[in-house]
Amino acid sequence: MEIIDVICEAAQKSTPTADVGLIRRCHDFAKQRHAGQMRRSGEPYLVHPLGVAKIIAELNLDVASICAGLLHDCVEDTSATSEDIGRLFGTEIQRLVDGVTKLGQIAWNTREERQAENFRKMLLAMARDIRVILVKLADRVDNMRTLQYVSRDKQERIARETREIYSPIANRLGIQWMKVELEDLAFRYLEPDDYQDLSTKMAGTQAGRDVYIAEVCQELQRVLAAASIPAQVSGRAKSFWSINQKMKRTGRELEQVYDIVAFRIITDSVQNCYAALGIVHSSWMPVPGRFKDYIALPKPNLYQSLHTTVIGPGADRMEVQIRTPEMHRTAEQGIAAHWQYKEPTVLGTGDRQAFAWLHQLMEWQRDLKDPTEFIQTVKIDLFQEEVFVFTPKGDVKALPKGATPIDFAYAVHSKIGDHCSGARVNGVMVPLRYPLRNGDTVDIITSTSQKPSKDWLKFVVTSSAQTKIRHHLRNEQRERSRRLGRDILARELRNHHRSLATAEKERLLDKAAAALRLSSADDLIVHVGYGKVAAEHAYAAIYPQAQSVDATAENLPAAAVEASAQARRMTKRSVGGVRVQGEADIVVRFAKCCSPVPGDDIVAFISRGRGVIVHTRECPKALNLDPARRVEVSWDEETRMLRPVAVEVISTDRPGILAAISKCFTEFGVNIIQAKCKTTEDRRGINTFQVTVSHVDQLKKVVRALQGIEGVTSAERQ
Ligand code: MN
Repeated sequence: MEIIDVICEAAQKSTPTADVGLIRRCHDFAKQRHAGQMRRSGEPYLVHPLGVAKIIAELNLDVASICAGLLHDCVEDTSATSEDIGRLFGTEIQRLVDGVTKLGQIAWNTREERQAENFRKMLLAMARDIRVILVKLADRVDNMRTLQYVSRDKQERIARETREIYSPIANRLGIQWMKVELEDLAFRYLEPDDYQDLSTKMAGTQAGRDVYIAEVCQELQRVLAAASIPAQVSGRAKSFWSINQKMKRTGRELEQVYDIVAFRIITDSVQNCYAALGIVHSSWMPVPGRFKDYIALPKPNLYQSLHTTVIGPGADRMEVQIRTPEMHRTAEQGIAAHWQYKEPTVLGTGDRQAFAWLHQLMEWQRDLKDPTEFIQTVKIDLFQEEVFVFTPKGDVKALPKGATPIDFAYAVHSKIGDHCSGARVNGVMVPLRYPLRNGDTVDIITSTSQKPSKDWLKFVVTSSAQTKIRHHLRNEQRERSRRLGRDILARELRNHHRSLATAEKERLLDKAAAALRLSSADDLIVHVGYGKVAAEHAYAAIYPQAQSVDATAENLPAAAVEASAQARRMTKRSVGGVRVQGEADIVVRFAKCCSPVPGDDIVAFISRGRGVIVHTRECPKALNLDPARRVEVSWDEETRMLRPVAVEVISTDRPGILAAISKCFTEFGVNIIQAKCKTTEDRRGINTFQVTVSHVDQLKKVVRALQGIEGVTSAERQ
């Protein structure tokens, strides 16, 4: 019988309605595409996909998975494309093959043990569909079985990857036989001497062990039959790898390791499992502390059994496992067993969290009537909240979903985050807000001049990045406020003919800070900069005794006060062409939203850490700002300044019109900095001019003149 017939038979056995024709068509396609290719063993290449498909069929997986097993190397190793597979065999099979191909492209270079868990998670997350993982595992089993033909280097690499990645995944999915086989094969190639040694010794003791197993089985059968417990009893040597581990752990030689044989009792019900346990314990002396009830408390991968160790008939320790046939199926096939039967399994409460996803699978399964429906619903959603990416050195980093290169940079080191100026993902430059995807290799570009930006907070998702960026911004803002605070305070003191330097020297600021319940002089300065403490309050706290003097000034007739203030103002020209509450020496900024020009009605706001910002009085943005932060400002008639402003001129598209417009600007002494002109489909010209003006009146005049030009339909300040 051909292997393909065996596969079809197995598929039909687990699902009588299985589309065997589809399996055969996939087989023929793979045979044709791999034609002429040879394995290292000298066999035709097709032997490998057939081997994989057979393992999948034995796991009782569905037809699509079997087909994916047959086709899994076609896209990678033959002229066939993913589209070919989709067209010929449907999108479900195409997706599975694509998934397996994609997993094959991720190179795992063993760097550190602790990375392995992230790598496993990444594989599971990337697979999305659990069947992709199962096909990949079957592929790995077949490769491991034929590993003797490849080079020593490759043997070691594949075997290590198997031990660290694939065997734990098989274990997590509860496929016991696969976990054990992969472990033993990895052992054979990674520690060949130990493996040979153990295998020779095991072969040497085989005959004696067989006799021992037969005797014990008979004895177990006898005591159980006497208690009318129906049971199937068997015994077998444990796996090479687990014996080797036990020898290492206990420092004993094989001859001294007695419990290398495990006996198994399979009985019909949970009740009889406990009854059988009672019989075993009353027939032989139990070893204290060795009884484990995995029926009441299943392992995270849903494994259930009773385990105990007793001093057996030969006065040796004897390990016994007791379970029902359903538990046995779950133990051997794990998640794959759930394609088959729908009996609800009793779940324990232990480890619910860690393997919540597997429990979720079970929940779905209970709700579904049809096992094929179950297969379609089984999508891996266990690591939906995480994304796994590589550093250029191949380390795996786990980040929350939606994480960006900035998050990654901070995860590597806070200095790298602080100076992150760009990122390459898989060799291509990406924006810093790019959401990382599973398997991306991320290379961060740093620059010493780069600093964290407020914008970053809009897209970073890790709290560590957020905290570090905020920390940096706070420091920066505090520094700005400190500088502004010093300026404001120095000016306030100067107005009272005092100097900040003297006040600091006399430690008056510390006293003032204490009086204002602030922690330090520095804090006081920063508070003034933020606008949290008004300059006059700060002054009053610094020189409390000076209050009476100022108070008398307030009693003077208003006109006199105004006159003296006027005199003071006139002494200096304002710094930015604007006086703030009558004061000339405060640096202001002009808001970009409304671009005030001299002569405009203006108002200003103290912004946190950014000083005084001047808006026009009608600016919609200014209307929304905190009135408590508002300060009165006026244009300084003494300081002539040019201010930029934009003028939009809409015209017909007639020749020479631009020349006429620019001539008009020049006539009114208005300088054009930049012009943007475009023509609409209905042949209108929309021209935006950035110009500088010295006064709003000048602007008004030129706009009016522009409106008078023939062909101009409108002219407006922006
Ligand atoms: Mn393969």
